[in-house]
Amino acid sequence: MTMQPRLVLLGRQGAGKGTQSARLADHFGVVHVSTGDMFRTQAAQGTAFGLEAKRYMDAGELVPDEIVVGVIEECMAPGGPLDAGFVLDGFPRTLHQARELDRVISGRPLDLVIDLDVPREIVFDRIAGRRVCENCQRTYHVNLPPTVPWVCDTCRGNVRQRDDDTEDAVERRLALYEAETIPIVEYYRARALLITVDGVGEGDDVFERLVKVCDEQIS
Ligand code: AMP
Repeated sequence: MTMQPRLVLLGRQGAGKGTQSARLADHFGVVHVSTGDMFRTQAAQGTAFGLEAKRYMDAGELVPDEIVVGVIEECMAPGGPLDAGFVLDGFPRTLHQARELDRVISGRPLDLVIDLDVPREIVFDRIAGRRVCENCQRTYHVNLPPTVPWVCDTCRGNVRQRDDDTEDAVERRLALYEAETIPIVEYYRARALLITVDGVGEGDDVFERLVKVCDEQIS
C-alpha cells in the first residue's frame, strides 16, 4: 500500500472516530488532523477565533463552512499533511466541505474514505455519559469513572463533561449528522472511495478491522 495514505474517517459523534483516527495515524506514520481538536485547543487558549468556534460547539451546532474550510486550507499548506499523509477526523462534515476538500488537495486525491458505523442509540449513550480530563483529554464514562471520582488516573487533572456533550447538544449534533453528513457518504460512494466499517465492539477489534480494510483497499 502507498506509504503515506490520505484517509478520511466519517462517523457519528461518539463512534470512536477520534480515538481510531489517532491510532490509524500513528500506525501509518501520518498526521492526525482533527478540526474539533483544533477548535478546542484554540478555545482553551482563549483566542478570538477559538472563542467564536466555541459558541457554535457549545450549542451543538456546526462551525460555519467558511471558517472550517479556511482552517483546513491553512493546515494543508505545502510541507504539511498533504505531503506527509493524513487521517482527517471530523472534516468534511457537509457536502460543501467535501467539495472544498477536493479543491484544496487537488492533484493529491484521497486514497480511502471510511464510514465508521455505530448506531444512533449506542453513540447517544456513549457521548452523553462521556467525561473528559480537562488536562490530558483522557476520556472516561459515567459507568467507568476514574479510581478517585473525577480525578484523572493518568495526570490527576479534573475530569468533567465537555460543554457540547450534554443531552440537548448531543441530540442536535446527531440530527445535524443525519442531515449534513450522510449526503457526504453518498458523494464518496459514487466515486468508489467509500467503505463502511462496523464500529461496534472493543476498540482493539475495531482498530484491527480498520487496518485490514486500509491494507486491502489501498494499493
Ligand atoms: P468533534 O470533536 O469532531 O466532535 O467536533 C466538535 C465540534 O467542533 C462540532 O460539534 C462542531 O461544532 C465543530 N466542528 C468540528 N469539525 C467541524 C466541521 N468540519 N464543520 C463544522 N463544525 C465542526
